[in-house]
Amino acid sequence: LLVVSGPSGAGKGTICQMLRDQLPDLGYSISVTTRAPRTGEVDGESYFFKTIPDVKQMIEKGELLEYAEVYGNYYGTPRKYVEEQLESGRDVLLEIDIQGALQIKKRFPEGVFVFIVPPSLDELSARIYKRGTDSEDVIKRRMASAASELTYAAEYDYIIVNDIAEKAAQKVLTIMEAERYRVSRTYFIVDKICKAKK
Ligand code: 5GP
Repeated sequence: LLVVSGPSGAGKGTICQMLRDQLPDLGYSISVTTRAPRTGEVDGESYFFKTIPDVKQMIEKGELLEYAEVYGNYYGTPRKYVEEQLESGRDVLLEIDIQGALQIKKRFPEGVFVFIVPPSLDELSARIYKRGTDSEDVIKRRMASAASELTYAAEYDYIIVNDIAEKAAQKVLTIMEAERYRVSRTYFIVDKICKAKK
């Protein structure tokens, strides 16, 4: 389970899209959200767009692996898809906010947690304005929380500075590759070798 998060505007979305383009077999969890679709966003591709009562019902039924309120809207990760994909042996990518990542870490301590940071707060602000998808009010809220969000970096396994998105995505791929060889994931090989010797 690969969890990519970081302050809004750090470039998580671009990096995750690059990972998905390069790894067609990577499972990608589509979140539910109560926020309105932005221009060009398609229901069931960008998000599953839901009403607040719908999401509350999903929460009550335990259908979300984690959820959080971000800038006045609910966001959550549907449980079924993630569990099925992991059980079938596929890697799954979650692009979620910090509150969500911390909830996932409690349930999936063996997950890989990557924190994407902007080169500077000025650059972060420039990116959010350039994106042009948020109202002035939302932009101010995003910027106000960015500095405090950065302090959560210590909870993650890796920090990637997103100066050039292609390079940052490449670094995440390198992390994924290295993580495959972690002893906790590969010790069974040694076991197998020892058993075969007898
Ligand atoms: P946006 O509205 O810009 O698409 O997303 C706002 C924030 O919500 C981003 O930081 C994004 O990563 C986060 N987010 C998207 N989906 C989820 C989710 O399922 N759970 C949580 N906790 N955060 C999410």
